[in-house]
Amino acid sequence: MSLVFDEYGRPFIIMREGQQEQRLKGLDAQKANIQAAKSVCNVLRTSLGPKGMDKMLSSPDGDVTISNDGATILEQMHVGHQIAKLLVDLSRSQDNEIGDGTTGVVVLAGALLEQAETLLDRGIHPMRIADGFERACTIATEMLASASDSFEYSVGDVEPLVQTAMTTLSSKIVNRVHRPMAQIAVDAVMAVADLERKDVNLDLIKVDGKVGGKLEDTALVRGIVIDKEMSHQQMAKEIVDAKMCILTCPFEPPKPKTKHKLEVEDVETYRELLETERQYFLDMVHKVKASGANLVICQWGFDDEANHLLMQHKLPAVRWVGGVELELIAIATGGRIVPRFSELTPEKLGTAGIVKEVSFGTTKDRMLVIEGCPNSRAVTIFVRGGNRMIIDEAKRSLHDAICVVRNLIRDNRIIYGGGSAEIACSLAVQAASDRVGTIEQIAMRAFADALEMVPMALAENSGLNPIEELSAAKAAQIAEGKPYLGIDCMNRGTRDMKAQGVFETLIGKQQQLSLATQVVRMILKIDDVIQPGMQ
Ligand code: ADP
Repeated sequence: MSLVFDEYGRPFIIMREGQQEQRLKGLDAQKANIQAAKSVCNVLRTSLGPKGMDKMLSSPDGDVTISNDGATILEQMHVGHQIAKLLVDLSRSQDNEIGDGTTGVVVLAGALLEQAETLLDRGIHPMRIADGFERACTIATEMLASASDSFEYSVGDVEPLVQTAMTTLSSKIVNRVHRPMAQIAVDAVMAVADLERKDVNLDLIKVDGKVGGKLEDTALVRGIVIDKEMSHQQMAKEIVDAKMCILTCPFEPPKPKTKHKLEVEDVETYRELLETERQYFLDMVHKVKASGANLVICQWGFDDEANHLLMQHKLPAVRWVGGVELELIAIATGGRIVPRFSELTPEKLGTAGIVKEVSFGTTKDRMLVIEGCPNSRAVTIFVRGGNRMIIDEAKRSLHDAICVVRNLIRDNRIIYGGGSAEIACSLAVQAASDRVGTIEQIAMRAFADALEMVPMALAENSGLNPIEELSAAKAAQIAEGKPYLGIDCMNRGTRDMKAQGVFETLIGKQQQLSLATQVVRMILKIDDVIQPGMQ
């Protein structure tokens, strides 16, 4: 039996025919688990940093995703190994809590596991390693807090927020336009933020996209965007002070529920039938008009005849609006969803400052934008791009940037990136380890070494010599006493991350350290993997 890995780094076990899979126990189990977890981490290592590579993942049904986001890559890798799944969860929890740093956390966990493996080989008990790591983690987190800077922003001066969002976006596909994208993310968060309570309800920010145009065309709409257009070409394209009725009943005469046969034998009856139908439509249009509405939003479609009548009566209408969007409109505009024409009253209408149909470039695509809604500060970021993959990745990157800005509003302390924070922590842990007289000292040193993996990976991914760069940055930090000297990934000619404006949030970095340590501790504690079918 042998444990091998496929080209995606997914571990699998090859067994000779007829051989029973052996259950691994004790040290063997720990080593096999570490191997499996490490292979996952190695996949992400090359994705770290502003010059990190992207991964192309293809799903079983042939859908292709290109991403640089750790959580997305692991999610799509369909990892089967139980231990490797823990790392997928690790990245997911970083994503849920913080929203950014999902690659970094896995790279760190991988580095810690690599160190743990060497220590296990040296005969140190797994729990002593875990304890040492935990102690080191506490020291590193404290170091981060003391090396952090808090910065002030105000509604008028959001530049620091934009700078931090730009650091997040710099490693993503959108880095060509990272300044406007960062600005959009900050504007979106500021539009919905509650600065007094220091909280942001991210549900109010909808990120939507449509293929076509360029990334530069991405825009922030202070309202709702719906992928629909007016049902008739000649209807008004812009309605100021819109009063809309939101209908879930179709614009058509009632239909008998069971099958009926209607025989029309002469022209007269046919005309009568047509006239009755027309009257029905007219009644409906009049009812809507009588309620004071100047826009119809309908969940269902309407007949050509009804459409024509609506147009004739200067009543713009939108058809086939999905249930979710209908609710969104109702909530934002303060309207009520009306299931029957007979229930339509003026107070059930929703209001909005302006509803307009916007078209994009030369394409025929049109969308409906509802702005100035009384009940909601909801905003929509509308992403444009050449193809679906770019749009999806841009949406994910914007999500990261939005989360970072939200984190800063919650806690405005920042730490410097480019591996400088990790080097500073590594030095602090190294110094503290000398004062520990037990075996944990070795584990703490190993933790310090593992922290150096992040700057090394950043340097390696930027085409620099990792060991040379790390030594130089470390020496500079010690000589100058500045914890913000890191790896100059972008070749700007300075290691000073403060000057380069590479910021990360303090809570994000602290979370990375503690989550990675926790998961490594968990993996080290497992000494037996029991699966169905094994004895
Ligand atoms: P994650 O998914 O963990 O956020 P990224 O691929 O975004 O991973 O890489 C983040 C790392 O890249 C951080 O350590 C950050 O400090 C570093 N980084 C980002 N921009 C720069 C830059 N301009 N120069 C140096 N390092 C940078």
